[in-house]
Amino acid sequence: MHSDLQSPVWHPFTQHGLDPVTTKIVRTEGAYLIDEHGRLVLDAISSWWVITHRHRHPAIAEAIQVAAETLDQVIFAEYTHEAAEELATGLLRVAPPGLAHVFYSDSGSTAVEVALKMALGFFHHVGDPRSRIAVMEHSYHGDTIGTMSAGERGVFNAPYGALLFDVDRVPFPEASREQDTLDAFERLCRDRKIAALLVEPLVLGAGGMKMYSARILTELKQIAERFHTLLIVDEVMTGWGRTGTLFACEQAAISPDILCTSKGITGGALPLAATLCSHEIFDAHFSTDRSRMFFHSSSYTANPIACAAAVANLKIWQTEPVAQRIEELGRLHQERLEPFRTDPRFANVRQTGTIAALDLDVSTAGYLSDVGPKLRRFFRDRDLLIRPLGNVIYLMTPYCVVPNELDRAYAAIDEVADMIRKANK
Ligand SMILES: *Cc1c(COP(=O)(O)O)cnc(C)c1O
Repeated sequence: MHSDLQSPVWHPFTQHGLDPVTTKIVRTEGAYLIDEHGRLVLDAISSWWVITHRHRHPAIAEAIQVAAETLDQVIFAEYTHEAAEELATGLLRVAPPGLAHVFYSDSGSTAVEVALKMALGFFHHVGDPRSRIAVMEHSYHGDTIGTMSAGERGVFNAPYGALLFDVDRVPFPEASREQDTLDAFERLCRDRKIAALLVEPLVLGAGGMKMYSARILTELKQIAERFHTLLIVDEVMTGWGRTGTLFACEQAAISPDILCTSKGITGGALPLAATLCSHEIFDAHFSTDRSRMFFHSSSYTANPIACAAAVANLKIWQTEPVAQRIEELGRLHQERLEPFRTDPRFANVRQTGTIAALDLDVSTAGYLSDVGPKLRRFFRDRDLLIRPLGNVIYLMTPYCVVPNELDRAYAAIDEVADMIRKANK
């Protein structure tokens, strides 16, 4: 198919042949995107899960402005800077105990790549080479070759399959079949030398907002420990309050060996990522031997302006009642989800903290690839940014959202289910 489009821009996860992107957003404010025609669109998915408090939080905007007046990118081998130091100390203060070092990069995918390299580097340097990575089915860890390898395989990575490396997969801990996951992981650890288990804690995001209990995470960690397998938690989506606590793994009372964070680290204002690791992992690379250094760098490692935004975000967590806000938002979702629990048009109504999800019953949803774009258009027409994952509709708003805005989103979900049902009659 030959394209004849106005713009040369190639958008992510967009089929330009069906659904070209034409609307310009000219301003953001609170929970809203404002387009060139003056329409206010409620950002009910936090612009792909990055905006935590609100769009353009004044303290973060100011920190960016001030930082930009003194520093731009500074090479992060050779030199350090105050924002990176302050942020690292601050991150370790709020992260689960046992994490001791902070490696900066610039995206969630990169944070996970760094984590995988840290894990393999660790085993290499301590003389116990291991190269197997275990993951959960339905997981998503990014779109680079390495993180696609660790993620679920499907239509979205089929063209690259030949280049993806093999990983060991444990089943997702479906309610009442959780023991299967634990048994599968234990078997893997026994039969193969697994370097690390890489998991999204509590909620598998792009895989369909699949949720599992904190107890399973606790038990996975215990199994990993017994076999000296490292636990890498990918908190890229779950971090910064999404699941009701600052990091999701707090709820499992575990300390991972490696933790990846990005998206909400700057409140969503600028790209930045950090991979936190234990003393043991750092120490395995610490030496007078240059061949043991950690061979990784992104050009924009620890960008000072992004670090300043993240420091401002940490301050917001200290000075504003963010925890209460998140708890309240959780309660608002809970109330509104209640009637959907017995609604036959939906299945698997679920919530973890500020994330609410429900499946359009597949029997009424019909041909899924048709339903997705239809749903999106329906929400778009109502000035709601909601992008279902297949038949999974979810809400993950900025924390500043108010009750009547949520009501609007839930009313649209109610309405769209009727539309789909009628269309399938
Ligand atoms: C978004 C996401 C990533 C990838 O982050 P990018 O910044 O898009 O590279 C990795 N892991 C999880 C769990 C994510 O949700």
